[in-house]
Amino acid sequence: MAVIKQDDLIVSVADALQYISYYHPTDFVQAMAEAHAREESPAAKDAMAQILMNSRMSAEGHRPICQDTGIVVVFLRVGMNVRWEGTLSVTEMVNEGVRRAYTNPDNILRASVVDPPFGARQNTRDNTPAVIHTEIVPGDTLDVRLAAKGGGSENKAKFAVLNPSDSLVDWVLDTVTSLGAGWCPPGILGIGIGGTPEKSLLMAKEALLDSVDIHDVRQKAEPSPIDELRLELYEKVNALGIGAQGLGGVTTVLDVKILQHATHAASLPVALIPNCAATRHAHFVLTGDGPVSLDPPKLEDWPSVTWTPDADSRRVDLETLTREEIQTWNSGDRLLLNGRILTGRDAAHKRLVELIENGEPMPDGVDFTNRLIYYVGPVDPVGAEAVGPAGPTTATRMDKFTDAVLTGTGLIGMIGKAERGASGLAAIKKHGVVYLIAVGGAAYLVSKAIRKARVLAFEDLGMEAIYEFEVEDMPVTVAVDSTGDSVHLSGPAQWRGRLGDIPVEMGKSA
Ligand code: SF4
Repeated sequence: MAVIKQDDLIVSVADALQYISYYHPTDFVQAMAEAHAREESPAAKDAMAQILMNSRMSAEGHRPICQDTGIVVVFLRVGMNVRWEGTLSVTEMVNEGVRRAYTNPDNILRASVVDPPFGARQNTRDNTPAVIHTEIVPGDTLDVRLAAKGGGSENKAKFAVLNPSDSLVDWVLDTVTSLGAGWCPPGILGIGIGGTPEKSLLMAKEALLDSVDIHDVRQKAEPSPIDELRLELYEKVNALGIGAQGLGGVTTVLDVKILQHATHAASLPVALIPNCAATRHAHFVLTGDGPVSLDPPKLEDWPSVTWTPDADSRRVDLETLTREEIQTWNSGDRLLLNGRILTGRDAAHKRLVELIENGEPMPDGVDFTNRLIYYVGPVDPVGAEAVGPAGPTTATRMDKFTDAVLTGTGLIGMIGKAERGASGLAAIKKHGVVYLIAVGGAAYLVSKAIRKARVLAFEDLGMEAIYEFEVEDMPVTVAVDSTGDSVHLSGPAQWRGRLGDIPVEMGKSA
């Protein structure tokens, strides 16, 4: 019989969450490096280079891969012969581990969890509680798998109950097409087939905890029906041409993972959950011999990809920027921003719109005239940092506020990630402004361009406050120009057309 001490689980969970905040799984890095090597779309290749360089910088600097350090999901398999030593419940032990990880002063992680979810939505400040799934199994060990899932990819979870005769492949292809790029591809699709509605969603999430192994599946002499389905989906999803960050390209998914369970004869439940560019998960086993400390990966496991702004990037002085100047920018142009930008995301937008609708002035000290607003919720800084990792958040969530905010503030541009929805595009065109994107999942790299940061308004919103950032050569791409032309529409359409001529299959290693 193994005796698991309370502190051993707490310390192991805390260490593992710190570990995954800055170390990508090496199989994921390898798969991303291979995708980067075979990518033919310059825009997608540039985005993947930023993701890979960001990954290496995070591993070296022990700072988060992404500013969204995720909600913690834990799968516990508790051996039937395990005995516990401690006063806390197992749920409380796990949550104490989460608390210690997210408030670690050496690498403070962003607290993103709000409670209650309906109504006040107060940030719990330590990222608790985790979502915990427990199974009792034969044996005398405690098996722990955990993940930190970002909102951008979690928000794209989809579920359906198909008729048994329906095409599951068609459902997946239609669903992935509808997701847009807010899940920060390239990543991994987790698919759960069968069981009941809740079981299929749980399997889709659990499938994402496995390693990337589509290479091995391809080499199998006798693939199972699920292996064949994985390969078919891998090929067909990549042939959609969505590409890294939705810019159009050869690789949208690095792997497709599937779990299945027996189901009712009348049903075919199916769920899909994507894992993003900030794929983060770990697995360890407690045997009663003390806490587990995960071995750090070797930096040689990262490819020697370095990212530098391409020679065509245009330097922009934000201090003299005018409405006339932004109208010379075309979608697809790469820019290096220099000067001051303002930040604001969901909660700040809601407040700004309330002020505008009530005829009240903008917050003291905030002048939006001819400025760009960056949709971001940064990680708090440590040491000499101006700000912690500060990558873009999904812009579509701001679409419903965009027309009112552009009307009431004097802003001339926005910076976020992924495509805009119909109302966002219409507002951009109506006001003759621009929408720029930074690379989602390259948050630490982006933060290196931020030289100074200060809170200007709505301090009570924490990471959602309005900041002023002073940036130096911050890399962005014009995603929607002032005429409303969008790279997220033209890029994937162009690559979907071209992929008929390009074999969408595993290339050689980088
Ligand atoms: S990579 Fe994108 S989806 Fe993933 S956590 Fe970061 S911002 Fe969210």
